[in-house]
Amino acid sequence: MVNQKYVMPTYGRKPVVLVEGSGIQVKDNTGTTYQDWVGGVAVNCLGHGSPVILEAINEQANKIMHVSNLYWNEPQLELAQLLISLSDGCLDEVFFCNSGTESLECALKIVKKHGATTNKPYVLYMKNSFHGRTSGALSITGQSKYQEPFGDLIPGCLNVDFNDTEGLKNRLGQYSGKIAGIFVEPIQGEGGVIVAEHEFLSTIADYCKENDALLVFDEVQCGAGRLGTYYAFQTFGIVPDVVCMAKGLGGGFPIGATLVGSKAKMLGKGDHGSTYGGNPLATAVALAVTKTVSDPAFLQGVQFRQGFLEAGLAMLAAKGLIKSHRGMGLLQGIVVENPNQIVDKAFDNGYLFISAGSDTIRLLPPLNVPLEDISSLMTNLESFLSE
Ligand SMILES: *Cc1c(COP(=O)(O)O)cnc(C)c1O
Repeated sequence: MVNQKYVMPTYGRKPVVLVEGSGIQVKDNTGTTYQDWVGGVAVNCLGHGSPVILEAINEQANKIMHVSNLYWNEPQLELAQLLISLSDGCLDEVFFCNSGTESLECALKIVKKHGATTNKPYVLYMKNSFHGRTSGALSITGQSKYQEPFGDLIPGCLNVDFNDTEGLKNRLGQYSGKIAGIFVEPIQGEGGVIVAEHEFLSTIADYCKENDALLVFDEVQCGAGRLGTYYAFQTFGIVPDVVCMAKGLGGGFPIGATLVGSKAKMLGKGDHGSTYGGNPLATAVALAVTKTVSDPAFLQGVQFRQGFLEAGLAMLAAKGLIKSHRGMGLLQGIVVENPNQIVDKAFDNGYLFISAGSDTIRLLPPLNVPLEDISSLMTNLESFLSE
């Protein structure tokens, strides 16, 4: 292996170099294969080496790759129109960027501008959340292990416990009329695959509606078809003012997007920007991926796989091999005593897993994962969990 010391050690990595992939399978540089249930952390929604993605890259790269936002480009306009048309009339405009964190930065600026013009100095976010690691996104990421090393962050960011509706109501009462926006993941992904309760979300949505605050859904992990509807908010039946997307949006090609409804059309010329954001290559890939994933038959397939996967996990729980399982769509969590130990054991058995929170293993397969791969996962989990 080439020397690793020139890369900043900001990640704990498995000692493996991945060189090839096809569907859910990846291969390392010694020829060992793995079943990839991490999917680049919810990114590879069509699996590795998807012909849809390869064709889009080739076709667009042959035409034009990058032009800057001083000019228009066709894939960007087409993708914007498609994403808005998929929102059931809830969203009006989109800003394109290159990652999930950046999509949150844009949302934060929208909320800050709204607050600055309406005298609302506070922003509310959830404990145990994850929104990214730039200074802005970190200010609303409710985990002290990420925030504390970096001292003072953006002022005016308040937090509450996720799914604690009483605590939320107290907070909202205390700061009534002074909150510019509320950030929430409909499912906390990194925090442990914790689904927002309906009462909690509707309390937030009602507050935002009644007090001219902006509701921001971070759908970076749970959106783009992963729950069996294109947008996560469609599964939850709540209409946000701002939606943040990335990860599965490009299926492996870096792209992020911040989408806004009529209440949050705050940004005008010069307010925000990105040199790469919405570049023709990235948007051509995301356009091809989004056309594929948003097809009603494809989304039905996601729902069907959810049922199949959940039935398997319920069986493992009934046999006492796991504590429980939770999640929605193809964002599923297995609750165990010692997730990191299981991730290691799975790796030794040819499976790539990722943990979440303190007691959970996250399963993030491609949205078109073959049923036989779900079955064989269950068989293998049963054998190595009972060791
Ligand atoms: C991954 C993630 C982010 C950050 O996205 P990056 O592409 O890593 O910048 C933000 N929010 C949520 C919910 C995420 O899962």
